[in-house]
Amino acid sequence: MPTLLEAQGACAGYGEIEVLGGVDVSIAAGSITAVIGSNGAGKSTLMRSLAGLLPLRRGSIRFDGVDVTARRAHQRVSDGIALVPEGRLVFPDFTVAETLRMGAFTPRSRKGWQPRVEKMYELFPRLRERRSTQAGLLSGGEQQMLALARGLMSLPRVLLLDEPSLGLAPAMADEVFTALRAIRDQGMTIGVVEQNVYAALSIADTAYVMEDGHVVRHGPAAALIGDPSIRQAYLGL
Ligand code: ATP
Repeated sequence: MPTLLEAQGACAGYGEIEVLGGVDVSIAAGSITAVIGSNGAGKSTLMRSLAGLLPLRRGSIRFDGVDVTARRAHQRVSDGIALVPEGRLVFPDFTVAETLRMGAFTPRSRKGWQPRVEKMYELFPRLRERRSTQAGLLSGGEQQMLALARGLMSLPRVLLLDEPSLGLAPAMADEVFTALRAIRDQGMTIGVVEQNVYAALSIADTAYVMEDGHVVRHGPAAALIGDPSIRQAYLGL
């Protein structure tokens, strides 16, 4: 599959701290690409850089063959890059239906937002049941599904997710991972950062392992999940 989104030699950080020390990642169209690694490795920073929330100091970001390094976050949303940040961040007072409507805020996605809401309810039946409920009253798992569905409402071509299973009970986390696979099977391109290494490698096509601001391993997820050093370091096996 051709590459849809890639970072080449990406360097980024906060103030004096350089977090990404020249990162190369490539997310193939129609695939799930997982980024794993220990705490503080720079995974969230990489996602923020891909989405344009954090400018690169060196290196470049290319989207569908076009250099988007200089494009701001809101422009990249219009381009088709959506980030579902860690912690879900739904507005507590808006209902599920209102939140979904708000997700279709780019000129391209405004058209046809109503049938798209229906599609989201098909993908996440639980959201249909809760459509008139305020987002703040949903369970953690439901909020994560809502954040994901809101991201999809902007008609992204690539969906980036930071820790979608964080704080969820195992059954809820499973539902989120199943939904990601379903979305990928419908043709979406997904990049996901996860603490739950086993689940991430189970649903991903390709995976990157980051340590201390660098990619230390990458390859087919199925190969990494069977690799003794990965199993020992990240799966506790
Ligand atoms: P985790 O799994 O713990 O979220 P991560 O791999 O996603 O880790 P990042 O969140 O990218 O790692 O953080 C990488 C480093 O950058 C850490 O040392 C962190 O303390 C630092 N950092 C992150 N955000 C900021 C910020 N806004 N200002 C200063 N330092 C930051």
